[in-house]
Parts: sequence; C-alpha cells; structure tokens
Amino acid sequence: MENCIFCKIVKGEIPSYTIYENDRIKVFMDINPIAKGHCLVIPKNHYTNLMDIDKDVLREIDEVIKELYPKFKEKLGAEGLTRMQNNELGQEVKHYHMHLIPRYKGDRQEPKVDEEAQKTVAEAFERLT
Ligand code: 5GP
Ligand code: ZN
Repeated sequence: MENCIFCKIVKGEIPSYTIYENDRIKVFMDINPIAKGHCLVIPKNHYTNLMDIDKDVLREIDEVIKELYPKFKEKLGAEGLTRMQNNELGQEVKHYHMHLIPRYKGDRQEPKVDEEAQKTVAEAFERLT
C-alpha cells in the first residue's frame, strides 16, 4: 500500500526498533511510547482495521502476543500487559495494529478527585432533576 507508514516500515523504507518478526507479523517499538516497552504488532500485509483483517492473521497476532508477554515480564519487569487497538475513529495509522502496553506497579495513579468539583457536579445534577 503506497503512502502507508507501516507498509514502509515492513519494507524497511522507514527504520524501526523491531523486537519480533516472522513472515507475516512484525512487532516494533512505538515512536511515541506511553510506557516503557510500548510497541505495536502489525500484520505485514496491509489491512486497514478489524473490519477487513483476515481471521487467521488475527489469531496469529494473538499467538505472537501470548509468546511475547512473558518476555515483557522477564526483560522489563512488567507485571501486566494492556492491549489496545483502535478502529476508524481514533485510529491515526490506517494499517491494522495492536498496541502492547507493558504495565508496571503503580504506573497509573488513582484519579485525583477534587471534592469541590464533585460537589458542583452533584449540584448541577440536582438542578436538572
Ligand atoms: P493509533 O492512534 O493509530 O492507534 O496509533 C498509531 C501509533 O503509531 C501511535 O502510537 C504512534 O506513536 C505510532 N507511530 C506513528 N508513526 C510511527 C512511525 O513512523 N514509527 C513508529 N515506530 N511508530 C509510529
Ligand atoms: Zn500498510
């Protein structure tokens, strides 16, 4: 697919830090990571998203992720792994990709609740009912 960034990565026209690859799948580091080890799993063939991806490829992507998971634990000390995959809206790159986001203890703080703001919201709802 012309002008697809990830197809260019597959062809080696754009460099990437690749951590796994076989004939059909490639796993490389995200250029804008939200956690240490954040990477992307892509099929080497161009599929746009979940709508058109081949079911066998989808299964193989899962199998690769299952193999990689213990490596994230072993090599990075991750204690969990979040998978995230955008389709159409919210999808920046229109070549199917699964985000793998290693999780570390304490990496997500509890949201800070501003009691005053909560009170304002509650009052607003009271006014509506
Ligand atoms: P989306 O929003 O489509 O689910 O995520 C696209 C992801 O691709 C983003 O996390 C973004 O950082 C990553 N990305 C975009 N361009 C490149 C690139 O040229 N190289 C790499 N390694 N990642 C990219
Ligand atoms: Zn592509």
